[in-house]
Amino acid sequence: MVSLSEKTSFDVEALRKDFPILATQPHDGVPLVYLDNAASTQRPRQVIDKIVETYEKHYANVHRGIHWLSESSTDLYEEARRKVQAFIAAPRLEEVVFTRGTTEGLNLVARSWGDANVSAGDEILLTELEHHSNIVPWQQLAERRGAVIRWVPISDDGRLEIDAFDALLNERTKIVSVAAVSNVLGTRCPVEAIARRAHDAGAVVVVDAAQSVPHEPTDVQKLGVDFLAFSGHKMLGPSGVGVVWGRAELLDAMPPFMGGGSMIRRVTKDGFEPADIPTKFEAGTPPIVPAIGLGAAIDYLQQVGLAGVHEHEQRLTQYAHERMSEIEGLHIYGPAPQLKAGIVSFTIDGVHAHDIAQLLDRDGVAVRAGHHCAMPLHERLGATATTRASFYLYNTSAEVDALVDSLGRAKSMFSGRHRRRRSG
Ligand code: PMP
Repeated sequence: MVSLSEKTSFDVEALRKDFPILATQPHDGVPLVYLDNAASTQRPRQVIDKIVETYEKHYANVHRGIHWLSESSTDLYEEARRKVQAFIAAPRLEEVVFTRGTTEGLNLVARSWGDANVSAGDEILLTELEHHSNIVPWQQLAERRGAVIRWVPISDDGRLEIDAFDALLNERTKIVSVAAVSNVLGTRCPVEAIARRAHDAGAVVVVDAAQSVPHEPTDVQKLGVDFLAFSGHKMLGPSGVGVVWGRAELLDAMPPFMGGGSMIRRVTKDGFEPADIPTKFEAGTPPIVPAIGLGAAIDYLQQVGLAGVHEHEQRLTQYAHERMSEIEGLHIYGPAPQLKAGIVSFTIDGVHAHDIAQLLDRDGVAVRAGHHCAMPLHERLGATATTRASFYLYNTSAEVDALVDSLGRAKSMFSGRHRRRRSG
């Protein structure tokens, strides 16, 4: 295994050696080309080792025991929280709340801040780009409180219509919730500008950062937002853990999301008094080892350097666009590569998105097909399904070539079939 400290610059081949799964072969000596990173990423040896070491040497429940093992486990869990704080430049440690993932973080804000602050006739502003995790919790909130959801439209090439956003903002707008990066089109949203304008209108700003935090440096203070949620499994960490960051004064004033053990200061037969933040929002036994594993993933990403990761993915995306445009009848959705992250969703005329993914799988190329939990966006695009290739730090231009070669084979297979059918 190559140790990270030996790497002088962004050296993909050296990084790949840290990821044992990349050496697996899906079928008969065919190498794995893993391009499903927007769904979930793989883990480096350093993260796997940290998980194993924690179970072997440090594991017990946190915050409760007075025995040394519980102290050791609590120290590691809280150290992971400090790593997250530094990673997103959160002003205060207690603003970092561990959740099970982005979905839970967004539900926490919708339930807790939403129920306490949104009334009948208030408006919630979303965009046409959103993942269901940043739609359904707000629809549920709107149902509970009689609020109205308004949608910021996108252009045909998948960019946010910022003038329409301005026109939709008004004194009834209570919440603006946007994805920093679309999980289908890769579109980057101008979060800073959105936050400034939303705050001028008196709204709270929530960011679904599931596809941005893993890929580029994040500074919540610079973004100027109020809440930001992301998932460990999309950034080399374990599944089952995520983070919602919120401004302390907002979190302090919010009622707890879930009730149970740990989140209280005191319980009597008559009621309960919640603990301080972040404990107030971490009911029950938290995802202890996943959070510690996320801390190890953050160490890894910081050593590699997120600015380098971002540049590498930009180069791959640019190259993928160039190469894929060689295939006749292939349509890439979303903006130009320089305006988006490392996500390329596409269709091929006459071939169903799922068939493409299945044929690619035969060649060891792992991509995703379907609506990618963004049905309103697909409706806007006029496509029932797309196929999506998504990159991370360990992908190479040779893997883009493998994708394009496999797509070429899939396409000729289907046009062959069509010709046979027509002549038969
Ligand atoms: N938002 C976006 C933009 C996503 O890509 C995803 C994961 N596909 C989620 C939210 C949900 O994340 P999780 O399933 O980890 O809660």
